[in-house]
Amino acid sequence: MKRSSKRAPKSEAHQKRTVQVIAAKPSPVALRSKRSKKALVVTPLSTRAKKLSKRGKAQRSKAAQRGKAAQRGKAAVARPRRLRADAGAVLERLSRAIPQPHVELAFDNAWQLLIAVILSAQSTDRRVNQVTPEVFRRWPNPAALAAADVAEVEEVIKSTGFFRNKTRAITQASALLVSRFGGEVPRTLDELVEVPGVARKTANVVLGAAHRVASGIVVDTHAGRVGQRLGLTRELQPEKIERDLCAHFPAEHWIGMSHRLVLHGRYVCTARAPACVDCPLNEVCPSRLVPPEGTWEERAEQQARDMALRSEGFARV
Ligand code: SF4
Repeated sequence: MKRSSKRAPKSEAHQKRTVQVIAAKPSPVALRSKRSKKALVVTPLSTRAKKLSKRGKAQRSKAAQRGKAAQRGKAAVARPRRLRADAGAVLERLSRAIPQPHVELAFDNAWQLLIAVILSAQSTDRRVNQVTPEVFRRWPNPAALAAADVAEVEEVIKSTGFFRNKTRAITQASALLVSRFGGEVPRTLDELVEVPGVARKTANVVLGAAHRVASGIVVDTHAGRVGQRLGLTRELQPEKIERDLCAHFPAEHWIGMSHRLVLHGRYVCTARAPACVDCPLNEVCPSRLVPPEGTWEERAEQQARDMALRSEGFARV
């Protein structure tokens, strides 16, 4: 039996649903329809067409966002193609920007530096430098601090925070140095991390800055952040970050780079507002936010002048 070519008439409601008059911004089809004075009939979008339309909308929205960001000067930054900075370039530029790295803790010998670093946990170097002169005046050597009255030590170091734990750490550390190492600070990492209150970071600082022993790279919050932003590490744990950083720099630069990374993170590549525009690493940094100003050498020279002022009164490493 032959099928009828005529379709069943659609209901009025269905016809109403299918008719949409495009009021604003007519498409070329609509314009042609107007010219031919035909009724403008647009069938409802199929599911696939709807999806495509949504995707197009999302893409247009992203493009608009990129445009706005570009106006604000953000997306206009051409980031280096590599996701990891060239470690050689980082070494060269930071060495120029911070020619004489320093520790921002005041000390005269390895024991004083050890005590200062223990006190600096969860505190600032400036705060520690305010209390250590009094600590070393009252207890000038490990034997004296080991025998000190606990309440008196707590009172002196109170402003650095966590003073009970810190008092225990510095008195016990001093006692161990006396009983086991003849009052001297050991020169190996393995021995030093046995001292109460001393972990790898503290040991690396003391060994590098006081004994000139390159046991590793100091990883504090600043050095870790800079290493991550430069793409030199993707790790989050200090020991793993240190392992990655040590693999990127020759051992003879570990001491210097330790303090350069810390200082660069503290004063230039800060957590909240990195000064990318003035940063000598800008061109090689995969995380830069804005284009640089001037040459990297000019920016490095400026940073070197700033660092020279900050390093006054501190021991260079
Ligand atoms: S300040 Fe900016 S350009 Fe410099 S290392 Fe940090 S993120 Fe990179």
